[in-house]
Amino acid sequence: MKTIDDFNFENKKALIRVDFNVPLDAEFNVTDTTRIEAAKPTIVKILEDGGSVVLMSHLGRPKGFQDEFSLKHIVAKASEILGVEVKFVEDCIGEKVEAAVADLKPGEVLILENLRFYGEETKGDEAFSEKLSKFGDIYVNDAFGTAHRAHASTTIVAKFFPEAKCFGYLLAKEIEAIDKVMASGEKPITAILGGSKVSSKITIIENILDKVDNLIIGGGMTYTFVKAQGGTVGNSICEDDKKELALDILKQAEAKGVKIYLPVDVIAADDFKKDANTQVTPVNAIPDGWEGLDAGPETLEIFKKVILESKTILWNGPVGVFEMETFAKGTISVGNFIDESTKNGAFSLVGGGDSVAAVKQFGFEDKVSYVSTGGGAMLESLEGKKLPGIAAILA
Ligand code: AMP
Repeated sequence: MKTIDDFNFENKKALIRVDFNVPLDAEFNVTDTTRIEAAKPTIVKILEDGGSVVLMSHLGRPKGFQDEFSLKHIVAKASEILGVEVKFVEDCIGEKVEAAVADLKPGEVLILENLRFYGEETKGDEAFSEKLSKFGDIYVNDAFGTAHRAHASTTIVAKFFPEAKCFGYLLAKEIEAIDKVMASGEKPITAILGGSKVSSKITIIENILDKVDNLIIGGGMTYTFVKAQGGTVGNSICEDDKKELALDILKQAEAKGVKIYLPVDVIAADDFKKDANTQVTPVNAIPDGWEGLDAGPETLEIFKKVILESKTILWNGPVGVFEMETFAKGTISVGNFIDESTKNGAFSLVGGGDSVAAVKQFGFEDKVSYVSTGGGAMLESLEGKKLPGIAAILA
């Protein structure tokens, strides 16, 4: 796996695909700088080598040139974070860009305009990719958030750099973290899968059964499994058309020697509201008119034991409706167990979809070993898919 450490960038121009798709407020201020900060180590290394940097990114989902999606809005913040005055050019291909790139001196950083102002970007257009490729001597992909897309700047452009393409530090870290769980993780390996629906996690579950020793299933998915086994789940979220699939997963797990842990008790509520009445009930005997919205105390004891005995932990999805304080305890507890296990030496990876929101909300970011920066890209990795952006560098 080639990273930027395999190259000396002295007097070279690095063409870096970053993910600066950051949230902006109504006055176009950047409200979350995480993604810019995440790309900083890669940019700094190249500048310190004596190279210059051409940054490419998308921002939002524009339809053609739309001022509100211009990357000019992030230039000031990027300059502040990177500690150099970042230059900006109002296009991402064409003469203006050629001139700006030609003018770029070692130690300087230039951001191109939003790639998605051109439909060719998401179409993975080859001619557009070739035009982009002229703006650097070495292509660096440091955008995990778009690594699952075969777009021009994330994948196709790499073919114009057969000998001079590599991963930035951020993307390399993501790949290593996934590998630690899915390929080279120390046993016992435990995956904790939560979230709302079996249907959205099924491919992950099936892929992960070949990798893990324990699978903890929580959240809304629980009730499809419980009902399939003959339990009564009241008004809990349940996908009746996935009951057979749930039974099949349990069978597959048994055949593969994977232990599955489902909740045994739940916090049931008489309404999907934070001030609903609640009671603890067995998971398979939820009364009519009540719905399971969080893991119960006995369940958390079981989850705790499994998590503390694990050496490798993957967490995707909340085990309850964490957005409402009344039903956040299970998710917070799981975070605390992972924190404790990590302190004892386990490797813990959190990521995929909205998992990161829960982790940030409760301040677990610094307590787990790694929080993935890519929602969709992480989900596809966990599903066992080869990400085109990564494959293009390895090719
Ligand atoms: P996902 O996007 O599939 O990872 O699901 C995340 C969502 O699942 C969160 O918004 C949670 O509120 C929701 N969720 C977790 N547990 C339950 C539950 N028992 N009933 C309904 N929704 C749930």
